[in-house]
Amino acid sequence: FDMFVLAFVERLFRPTYKKDDIVLGKKLGEGSFGAVYRVSLAKKPSSKGGDFVLKKATEYGAVEIWMNERVRRACANSCADFVYGFLENSSKKGAEYWLLWRFEGEATLADLMQSREFPYNVEALILGEVQDLPKGLDRENRIIQTIMRQLLFALDGLHSTGIVHRDIKPQNIIFSEGSRTFKIIDLGAAADLRVGINYIPKEFLLDPRYAAPEQYIMSTQTPSAPSAPVAAALSPVLWQLNLPDRFDIYSVGLIFLQMAFPGLRSDSSLIQFNRQLKRCDYDLVSWRQTVEPRASPELRKGFELLDLDGGIGWELLASMVRFKARQRISAKTALAHPYFDREGLLALSFIQ
Ligand code: ADP
Ligand code: MG
Repeated sequence: FDMFVLAFVERLFRPTYKKDDIVLGKKLGEGSFGAVYRVSLAKKPSSKGGDFVLKKATEYGAVEIWMNERVRRACANSCADFVYGFLENSSKKGAEYWLLWRFEGEATLADLMQSREFPYNVEALILGEVQDLPKGLDRENRIIQTIMRQLLFALDGLHSTGIVHRDIKPQNIIFSEGSRTFKIIDLGAAADLRVGINYIPKEFLLDPRYAAPEQYIMSTQTPSAPSAPVAAALSPVLWQLNLPDRFDIYSVGLIFLQMAFPGLRSDSSLIQFNRQLKRCDYDLVSWRQTVEPRASPELRKGFELLDLDGGIGWELLASMVRFKARQRISAKTALAHPYFDREGLLALSFIQ
């Protein structure tokens, strides 16, 4: 009961916005489901200053607003700071949903991973300064470990709330300059299984580069969503049966792989990796056996990094990238994995 009152009061006193309050700036992206702009808000007594991001979305915007409202209340630190969402009818293109977030920062993980400086560019962002230390595998491993911890922490927040993102990829992870952590964005393909907001099948929304194999299995059937009350009653059971959160774990495993292997960061090499893994029946160990004997120096570097500390990184990676969802580690269990026992980056900044 208290939660409902709080949610209601919170909403009542939160500033609301309309089209005329929004001053469009630079376009940040455009997909088939809407466009994203950097914007500023015309000053209102109640409004906070600063930069914002606006997404003009099509019909899927309704679900994205629902998901962002839920995240705001349940696990605010996992995702970009959501401000307000509304239906905008005056657009020439017909009804659109407009969504506002705080502008978190300039770079996504995809931008940062494309740089030759990765992962040192991320170290500088997280610590707020450039470390004058020799470069090397151990330092890179600490940075990647810190990024993985942040990603799994954010994902655990979503999953504990009952939300599966379904489109986890470096392009949908933003570096928040305010909190100096990575946050998840783009809940347009997310499913909330506890309340039954889950309109599968929507595979066409999913990015095949990062999608777990079961998505292709699901698309051959056409499950229809049960009614909301039925879904709400069934969802804890369905969650345990299907472990839908493990879909995201596979995607975050592929991000881990790309961070460790510089040679797998491009789209074309990731697509090639996916083909190779499929040929190995999605068995990462047999993929390693086939590629390692004739591995390029770049590929060898990845194995070397994951083999540090008795191969604990490789062990974690292999527990995420598995064919069967049931055999994949959960975000919460992954955070307790021995890979994270070693101190990451924050320890370094405390020493100074
Ligand atoms: P799309 O549906 O087009 O993929 P996203 O929600 O992923 O929409 O946003 C597109 C791009 O806009 C992101 O890749 C990112 O560069 C930028 N962006 C989105 N939200 C934010 C935010 N809160 N702060 C800063 N940049 C953002
Ligand atoms: Mg996106």
